[in-house]
Amino acid sequence: MDTGFVVRCDYPLPIPGHVITTSSCRRREYSIRVVADEASALDAITAEIGDVSAVVVTDDVVAELHAGRIVSALAARGLRISTLAIPSGERSKSLPVACHLLDELASGHIGRRDIVLAVGGGMINDTAGWVASSYMRGIPYINVPTTLLAQVDAAIGGKVAVDHESGKNLIGAFYEPQAVISCTSYLATLDMRQICAGLAEAIKMAVISSRELFDFIEKNVTRLLHMDPASLQMLVHSASVLKCALVERDPYEQDLRRPLNLGHTVGHAVETATGYGPVLHGEAVALGTAVALRIACSRGLIDEWIAARIVALLSAARLPVLSRDLAKVPTDHEIIRALAKVRQVRGGSLRFVLPAAIGTCVIVDDVTEDEIRAALHASAAARSR
Ligand code: NAD
Repeated sequence: MDTGFVVRCDYPLPIPGHVITTSSCRRREYSIRVVADEASALDAITAEIGDVSAVVVTDDVVAELHAGRIVSALAARGLRISTLAIPSGERSKSLPVACHLLDELASGHIGRRDIVLAVGGGMINDTAGWVASSYMRGIPYINVPTTLLAQVDAAIGGKVAVDHESGKNLIGAFYEPQAVISCTSYLATLDMRQICAGLAEAIKMAVISSRELFDFIEKNVTRLLHMDPASLQMLVHSASVLKCALVERDPYEQDLRRPLNLGHTVGHAVETATGYGPVLHGEAVALGTAVALRIACSRGLIDEWIAARIVALLSAARLPVLSRDLAKVPTDHEIIRALAKVRQVRGGSLRFVLPAAIGTCVIVDDVTEDEIRAALHASAAARSR
């Protein structure tokens, strides 16, 4: 017979009149495993799920390519597992789709100890993570990222969110996963555009934090574009270690000054202005990084040759570095309008991360609209020569 878990409390009556203060500690440790084959990924997932029920949240493309096989293999191992698939694409990272998932969790009798297994790209990791953070005030989730972008960045760090038409990631939370299991063999089915988009976040990570990673990507960019397994394994592992180090310095973005946001101020505005989808997140970040470099150059913050070297690497990775390179070109007015919305949400300031060298960034909030306009088009000093 279960003797129950006894909780005893007997606090004295407090003296009225004092200001009442309280604190909470949410920080927890979790592991990230970068594996090369599916068998190792399945072993890691099985160990993490244990004896609870799991719901795989995925998108219809990944369901077809990988998640269906993962679910069958886990079920064959005796795990209680079900699947929820949503349409692929950034437009599914929305409140209506998240509400649909919450309805399904509730009607599927998913309990507080059960687990969400987010199998997909950054869209799935962000959406499923946010759903997990809000269902029953938070149930555990495990990220199994299947895009390069998600493996090097999105799946790690606990920032979960859905988009709103007036702003990217406007509805979200900080909610760490129970674990991240990155299997690089899943990347073999990605098309070239998605690989390039993933490289954008990896190059950003290198620019803000590691000359060695920057050199590695520069030296191996062709191998990476051809999805050489050993190079991808090295890239995902290194970027994961760096992302952890950067997040640990400020897990809840208390000062909103994370260098990780390099390229994201303009990048998010481009995604909002183009209606979430036609321009991939990584492509928008690449343009945003090139814009930040040109602004840094024109302010004399960075040596022109270093800026040119970074822009050249973005170009070598087949990423857009000028507004006209985007798959859907927003007008300057549309970008500035989307930036104004960010400014409004951020209490009047528009924060830019400007690289000063590889591994050094300056964070400013006085970038003008004229500087942004010029940097969106300029074949300025930072353009590769
Ligand atoms: P995504 O999840 O939309 O995936 C891109 C496309 O690839 C989709 O069509 C998907 O179905 C398909 N796909 C996924 N895995 C595949 C595979 N193995 N083979 C073939 N196709 C596959 O996009 P993404 O680029 O992975 O992620 C972008 C999202 O990540 C954005 O919403 C962005 O805001 C978010 N993000 C979040 C963070 C964070 O810290 N939370 C960081 C960076 C980016």
